[in-house]
Amino acid sequence: MPFLPENIFLKIISGELPSKKVYETDQILAFHDITPKAKTHILIIPKVELKTAKEVNLENTELFGQLFLAAKIIAEQEGLDGYKLHMNVDEAGGQVVPHVHLHLLSADYKSNL
Ligand code: AMP
Repeated sequence: MPFLPENIFLKIISGELPSKKVYETDQILAFHDITPKAKTHILIIPKVELKTAKEVNLENTELFGQLFLAAKIIAEQEGLDGYKLHMNVDEAGGQVVPHVHLHLLSADYKSNL
């Protein structure tokens, strides 16, 4: 599936689109996926506009690290013991929403890994 023509996550960040928020800092936002693929399926995103994880560089590694820190905190909040983290990178990698997002999924998620 190609990239959606619009970055809908920017509208979630601005509040223009509703979301079920579970965690927020000045740099990070996390909310429930609208079509969950597991009992718990949460998306963790940076508030700044970054299209894909290919935009990681030495200036923003701390921000990318915050996605993982948020995942740990949210997993504790949600009472998840073990969990799965998944990121699709670019259209060819299966990414559909053109804004960096880390999928946090409960262990019942069936991946092909
Ligand atoms: P990806 O394929 O990695 O780009 O994943 C995009 C994810 O965003 C999918 O799991 C969608 O279900 C989810 N999604 C799309 N629109 C929304 C929305 N408005 N609120 C929450 N999740 C969404």
